[in-house]
Amino acid sequence: MPAIKFRGVDFIQFDSLLTEEERLVRDTTRQFIEDNLIPIIEECNRAGRFPRELVKPMADLGFFGASLKGYGCAGMGNVEYGLMTQELERGDSGVRSFVSVQSGLVMYPIYEFGSDEQKETWLPPMQKGEKLGCFGLTEPGFGSNPGGMLTRARKVGKEYVLNGEKMWITSGSIADVAVIWAKVENENNKVRGFLVETDRPGFSSDDVHGKWSLRASVTSGLSLQDVHIPESNLLPKTDGLKSPLMCLNQARYGIAWGAIGAAMSCYDTALQYSLLRKQWRDQPIASHQLVQDKLTWMISEITKAQLLVLQVGRLKDAGKAEHQHISMAKRNNVWMALECARLSRDILGANGVADDYPIMRHMMNLESVKTYEGTHDVHSLIIGQSVTGIDAF
Ligand SMILES: Cc1cc2nc3c(=O)[nH]c(=O)nc-3n(C[C@H](O)[C@H](O)[C@H](O)COP(=O)(O)OP(=O)(O)OC[C@H]3O[C@@H](n4cnc5c(N)ncnc54)[C@H](O)[C@@H]3O)c2cc1C
Repeated sequence: MPAIKFRGVDFIQFDSLLTEEERLVRDTTRQFIEDNLIPIIEECNRAGRFPRELVKPMADLGFFGASLKGYGCAGMGNVEYGLMTQELERGDSGVRSFVSVQSGLVMYPIYEFGSDEQKETWLPPMQKGEKLGCFGLTEPGFGSNPGGMLTRARKVGKEYVLNGEKMWITSGSIADVAVIWAKVENENNKVRGFLVETDRPGFSSDDVHGKWSLRASVTSGLSLQDVHIPESNLLPKTDGLKSPLMCLNQARYGIAWGAIGAAMSCYDTALQYSLLRKQWRDQPIASHQLVQDKLTWMISEITKAQLLVLQVGRLKDAGKAEHQHISMAKRNNVWMALECARLSRDILGANGVADDYPIMRHMMNLESVKTYEGTHDVHSLIIGQSVTGIDAF
């Protein structure tokens, strides 16, 4: 069990800005994480093990496809959804990544771009956690610039034949279905999305080992060698690169909230530790000005980050959130969380590097979170393009 118990973080009565339903979602998720993930997460992280035993209980609480309507999904508002991802990531970014992929990167594209039959086939079992999904966009040679992808689909009769390699795919080897993005040769190389059942001949996955980050999450490479799928597996409403980018926007929004959870965990650990740990004249280290300055920086940035995502969430509920708003929230909040992890690690001194405390794990996880779903710098370019009108990619 952890050495320090999380107490929640709220400096400016942020809770008063939330509805009763939003607080209920936050508190229910927090309790679930406290009871089920916190006791096992350090062991999972050491072992590089995804806690698959939590999939069913998470499904029972409505975590998968939580913001979608129908098909058994919870139909949460965007702020409820964000508070849920905040609490998941307060537990671990890897577990939050799993939920983000299942929901924002697999169920969402099926919901948004799929046929009625595809929705009926996949969404109910995915909501129940009986079927798992992954999202294959990144390739060994193309990350920030997915438009360069080499994966190809060719229409042959009533089938598509897929060839290519995907890399760094969350949940790749545990997925039942992969959303694969490929250029269609017979359609002027337009990017389209396909549902590929992972037991089809020619499809294989290979896990990435030796990760120092997101160790409680499965990350895989995918290989597609002449994989035949029926034409009905094309996501019919996908239409160019903007379709996967719409999915990424969903997931980035959840990440912007999730990063606050990781920051809260680090800050609250450092605060409690600094009041207990004594150095010089038998005084707690919290009594030193330099330590207080670090705590002040963290609580200020966490508070500003909360207000930023709350506004973006309210805009999203009103159908007014633009992609650059979500970029700002993802970029700022992940950077802020990583800085909080570094400052908190520093406050704990040597204890900061041990997994008796969650800080170093969060810090290592956040390095991936800073890179995936658009790197920090790619989001700088998106915001820069929005304010100047000039594309600097
Ligand atoms: C743990 C983990 C899980 C992931 N899960 C998934 C997943 O489920 N599905 C999926 O499709 N992908 C996934 N990814 C991949 C992730 O989205 C990519 O890593 C990310 O898009 C960055 O691509 P890259 O790693 O190839 O870096 P690169 O694109 O090679 O970037 C390297 C560096 O160059 C910088 N750079 C690139 N272009 C520019 C530019 N124009 N101007 C200035 N700087 C630039 C970047 O900011 C970065 O600092 C995952 C990655 C990780 C680490």
